[in-house]
Amino acid sequence: MAGGSYVGRFAPSPTGPLHAGSLVAALASWLDARAHNGHWLLRIEDVDTPRTVAGADQIILQQLATCGLHPDAPPVWQSQRSALYQAALEQLIATGLAYACTCSRKDIEIALAARGHTRTRHAELVYPGSCRLGPLHPMSRAQAWRLRTDVLLAPHGPSPGGSSHIIWHDRRLGPQAQDVAQAVGDFVLQRADGCWTYQLAVVVDDAAQGISHVVRGQDLADNTARQIWLQRCLGLPTPQYLHTPLVLGADGAKLSKQNGALPLDLSMPLQALNSAAAVLGWPAQTGTVPEALAAWTAMVAANGSPVAR
Ligand SMILES: [Zn+2]
Repeated sequence: MAGGSYVGRFAPSPTGPLHAGSLVAALASWLDARAHNGHWLLRIEDVDTPRTVAGADQIILQQLATCGLHPDAPPVWQSQRSALYQAALEQLIATGLAYACTCSRKDIEIALAARGHTRTRHAELVYPGSCRLGPLHPMSRAQAWRLRTDVLLAPHGPSPGGSSHIIWHDRRLGPQAQDVAQAVGDFVLQRADGCWTYQLAVVVDDAAQGISHVVRGQDLADNTARQIWLQRCLGLPTPQYLHTPLVLGADGAKLSKQNGALPLDLSMPLQALNSAAAVLGWPAQTGTVPEALAAWTAMVAANGSPVAR
């Protein structure tokens, strides 16, 4: 491949136009790829069909083009890649790592209560493994598929014993660790409504597209241990990860449509890019968009990271 072995990506969910926060992740991943003389790919993550907004994908692609962030290959849409996800699920079923789950949320709450677990109102429920030995409701037609986190794989990487206690390194945040079995339990790969989950689609696509470096928003950092566990279960390589600083809304929470993120005003793309670059620690540029991108690329290359340090 021309330009070395770096392959990065930006993978927006088409739930609306890009906002200031998503442009930070897009710019960071683009700059990191360019600074490594690598390739930069676009993937539209539209597997969560109930949340997908018609036409948002085209708006996002137009916004990125206006900002001069051009991909090195045509974008891909996850909604067109079901066969890949199905093949991965079948591999996991064949190796005994995935199983059907017919639990309702209520079933999970009852099983957790029986074990004396207290519920936190906003925390996601840790799946107690009720269906590992066979579905709780064998006659139920709606079933999700879950990944086992309680098994040992052949030792791989820095996690001792091949367990789902995952130790990984973030290029910005440093050493990270999560015991997936304890933190989330056997997680869902395909929902009972047939939708593929973010975890499965991302892991399959990162491998299929040869992604070597993932640069994305820090709100996604908590998913990384699950994704590394799934990579190991599928025998796939683990990319390098870097999670970028978040843009906070007026309420101090991550910027989102819920707390007033406005769609980017791209009548002045350089201004939008300067704001995104400031979050990454880079100085504002004047001149044209390509000149600004070239200046930041040189800074990122010298720094070794798309976030100033
Ligand atoms: Zn279950």
